[in-house]
Amino acid sequence: MTKQEIINGLRSLGLKEGDLVLLHSSLYSLGHVEGGPDAVIDAFLETIGSEGTLLVPVFGDLGILTTTLKNRPGAVVSPCPVGTVAALGKDAGELCRDHWKPVSCHGEGTPFKRLADKGGYVCLMGVDQDRNTSLHGIEAELRLAYLGSTTREYTTPEGETINKTWKYYPGPHRDFIALDHQLKARGAMKQTRIGNSQVRLIDAKGMWECGMELGAADPAFILCDNPGCKDCVRQRAALMSDFFSKEDFKLTVSSRLAGRYVPEMVEKCKAAGVKFIELDFVQGVPAASMPADKLTAAVAELAADGIEVSALRAFAAPDKCEDFAAKVKAAGIARVILPLSASGEAAAACAAAGIAVDFFNANLTSKAANAALARRKEKIADCGICFNPANFVMAGERAFTIYRSGRFIKTMRQLDINDILPDGTVTELARGGAEIKEMISIARCASFAGFMCLAGGIKVSQDLKSMVADFRRLIENM
Ligand SMILES: [Zn+2]
Repeated sequence: MTKQEIINGLRSLGLKEGDLVLLHSSLYSLGHVEGGPDAVIDAFLETIGSEGTLLVPVFGDLGILTTTLKNRPGAVVSPCPVGTVAALGKDAGELCRDHWKPVSCHGEGTPFKRLADKGGYVCLMGVDQDRNTSLHGIEAELRLAYLGSTTREYTTPEGETINKTWKYYPGPHRDFIALDHQLKARGAMKQTRIGNSQVRLIDAKGMWECGMELGAADPAFILCDNPGCKDCVRQRAALMSDFFSKEDFKLTVSSRLAGRYVPEMVEKCKAAGVKFIELDFVQGVPAASMPADKLTAAVAELAADGIEVSALRAFAAPDKCEDFAAKVKAAGIARVILPLSASGEAAAACAAAGIAVDFFNANLTSKAANAALARRKEKIADCGICFNPANFVMAGERAFTIYRSGRFIKTMRQLDINDILPDGTVTELARGGAEIKEMISIARCASFAGFMCLAGGIKVSQDLKSMVADFRRLIENM
């Protein structure tokens, strides 16, 4: 390879005098170059001329090209200990100025974004999109919920030593290489071969626009969907959790939906970004009939991984009400959900023990359920309805009509998220007769701040991940 061959290749990609270009490269990919790394740097500098500016990253595995450029007279190194670049040319000082100051080291106010604003290019020489640092800047500007931060001690060019945290710092695996075809399809990238090196020239502004657009439509746009990729599973969970954290209601899920054993429940909840769980069944046994020590251990095991028990749901009145209340209390569970149709004894024992009590409708029409709730409220002033749409459908009623009638509007403390056909077949959400989408919508209209519980005590055939995704889709389509 000669310098002139490299110049010819760069010109064929459209690089011209006066251009700004950020180069990520592998010198090895070019094969033997006459004149070595200096010839490669000179090829770029001669192509862009005295009005142009060449930038290279100064972090990660420092290539020989980086070192060569850094040592050239007039080279500027951006003042920032993370995401550092070196620049040579007319706009070097302007692009690098105050790099340490912005909230993120890759986004607005950094050389990466300034390059795009000035109509510059990113050149990938023998490397792929995985090395395209500017994509971190797009993630940062999107404020993606899975991003972390990094803290360093740094002495500024003014001589002040600071301890600064740069936010929106990139995480582990992302699927940057999948962006290649998007950039090509939008005409934001050209590719050619120089020597053995596949060289991509990307219009930085077009790349930012493409990334910002894709990211606004789907914050997971740059994550892979390999279920075996622990990084992306965790990052997707962070996005899901962020989505629900913007709602007034709190999302909880039936333990039976999350898994059979506690470690499985923990894993599934974490992967789905879920922070609350309602204990209905554990290991195939009703949580209400678990021995006290096992119940306590299960709650502790969940808490150790940051998953809080939103309630324990009992499907029948326990035999010994005081023992039941003592067991729930000892396990650290703050709330129980009992069937309205059972006697009030267990509720009274729990209330006496300082446990919050709510009731769910089962085998009752709305009229009977309303009357039963009124009787409960005479004994326990602070209790409410856990509104179970599927159970009302089974009792031959239309859930939304009941709700709209106002019967339970002031007493609803939880909305169970489930759906069912009148013949008792459990369906996916908004595929049965429960009018669940309408229920969710009206609750959100009133900024309902109680729990919404996926599955809500009924057995569903879906897994947690797909049910959370369905629930999210319903909300996104409101
Ligand atoms: Zn991944």
